[in-house]
Amino acid sequence: IPVTVFKDRTVALFGLGGSGLATAEALKAGGAHVVAYDDAEVSRHKAGEAGILVQDLRSIDWTIVAALVLSPGVPLTHPEPHWSVKLARDAGAEVIGDIELFCRERHAIARRSPFIAITGTNGKSTTTALITHILRVAGRDVQMGGNIGTAILSLAPPKPGRVHVVECSSYQVDLAPSLDPSVGVMLNVTPDHLDRHGTIEHYAAVKERLVTGVEGGGTAVVGVDDEFSAAMADRAVEAGKHVVRISVKRPLPDGIWLDGETLVVSEGGAERFRLPLTGIGSLRGTHNAQNAAAAFAACRGVGVAPEVITVAMKRFPGLAHRMEEVANKGPVLFVNDSKATNADAAERALASFNDIFWIAGGKPKTGGITPLAPFFDRVAKAYLIGEAAEEFAATLGGTVAHEIVGTLDKAVAAAARDAEASGLKEPVVLLSPACASFDQFPNFEVRGDAFRDLVRQVPGVEARTR
Ligand code: ADP
Repeated sequence: IPVTVFKDRTVALFGLGGSGLATAEALKAGGAHVVAYDDAEVSRHKAGEAGILVQDLRSIDWTIVAALVLSPGVPLTHPEPHWSVKLARDAGAEVIGDIELFCRERHAIARRSPFIAITGTNGKSTTTALITHILRVAGRDVQMGGNIGTAILSLAPPKPGRVHVVECSSYQVDLAPSLDPSVGVMLNVTPDHLDRHGTIEHYAAVKERLVTGVEGGGTAVVGVDDEFSAAMADRAVEAGKHVVRISVKRPLPDGIWLDGETLVVSEGGAERFRLPLTGIGSLRGTHNAQNAAAAFAACRGVGVAPEVITVAMKRFPGLAHRMEEVANKGPVLFVNDSKATNADAAERALASFNDIFWIAGGKPKTGGITPLAPFFDRVAKAYLIGEAAEEFAATLGGTVAHEIVGTLDKAVAAAARDAEASGLKEPVVLLSPACASFDQFPNFEVRGDAFRDLVRQVPGVEARTR
C-alpha cells in the first residue's frame, strides 16, 4: 500500500524487521523521504540492500522530521521510552505506527472501504482468522494482516468493497491515534503485557480507543465478561456508538451470548437467531465461543447473512498450533497446542478434554503449572520435556502419573503408545507445554511443526488435512 500522506516529507523509522521494511517501502512508494535505523547490524544491512537510507537517528536533523514510525517491539513508554521516541518528542515530531499510516491512507483513498480491527488480550488471531474465513466463504474480497501474517502495509490497498481484517496488538493501537475501523472488536482484557504498558488501567485505556474510535455508522463489538471491557462497552454507548455486547458467562437481553454450546443472538429481550457450535472441533471451548460470537457480530457488521456465517463457521479449519487437531489413530486424537506458552493458555486446553496424555515442559515461566492443579484429574499421564521437566514432576507429585522423557520425540512415542493401550473412550495426546520453547526450539511454531511431523510418523495414524 503506497503511503502518500507523507509525500515529500521526511519520516524517520526505527526497527527494520519485516513490518519495518514494509513500512519503509510503502512510504517511499508514496513519495516520502525515509531515514531508517535498527540496532541490529543484519537488519541495517538488509534494509540498505533494499535501497533504504539507513542512518543512525541520533545524528540526523530532527527539525525536518515529520514523524517517527516505530516497529512493534520498540518500547514506547515503559519503563523508559526508547531513545528515538525521546528525540522525536523533543523535536515535536509525531510518534506513530504502521496501522496509523494505513488509517490515514484509507481516509485519503477509500474512506468507505470496510475495515475490521480486532484487539484483546487473548483470541485475537483466532478471531481474525475466523472473520477472514467467513468473509471468504461469503465471496467477499478480503485482505488479512497486521499483527498476524502479513504486515498491514504489504496488503493490497483499500478500495470500495474490499474488506481489510486487521489484528492489532495494544501497542499498535497505542500508536494509531486516527484508528477508526468500520467494525472494532475488543475481545477481553486480562493482565498480560504489562511490561509494555505499565498498569492494567493504562493497558485497558489504550485498547478502548479501538471501540470508542469506531467510525460513524460502524459497530463496536465488545466482550463484556471482564470489568474493563464491560466499562468500555458502556462508554462506547455513551459516545453514541452502535455496540454489540458478547458474553459467554451470562444471558444478554441485547447482544450475543452462550447457551450451553449454542450462540444466541438477542435483541430487545427477544431471541433472533441461534448458532450451534457443537461439533466444530476448531472452535472447542468457551474461550472459542467468545471468538465465534465476536466473529459473528463483526461479519454481520459488514453485511454477511447469519445463515452464511453459520455454514462458514462449521468449515473453519482453525489456526495452526492452537488446539489444532492433527491426526487420529482409532479413538486417539492428537492435538497440537504449541501456542500455549503459559499456564493460562494450557488451562484452556486441559479444560477442553478428558483423558489427556499430556506433553508439557520447555522453558518454564514463573509459577509453573501450579495454577493448573484443578485440571489434573483430567490428565491420564504427563510426559515432561525440556528444562521444566523436574519442576513440573515435583508439582505433579504423587497425584498425577508422569514420566520425565526429556525430548518431544520420546514424548510423542510414549504418549501415543499409552493412549492406545489405555482402552479409554476418547483419549487425547495433547501437546500444550505451558512453557516457552526456546530451550529446545527456535519458537512455538517450529515446536508445533515438529510435533505434527512426529505424530504423522506414528504407525497407523490418519493425518488430518487443514
Ligand atoms: P492471540 O492472537 O490474542 O494471542 P490466539 O487466537 O492466538 O490469541 O489464541 C492464543 C491462545 O489463547 C489459545 O491457544 C487459547 O488458549 C487462548 N485463547 C484464545 N481465545 C481466547 C479467548 N477469547 N479468551 C481467552 N483465551 C483465549
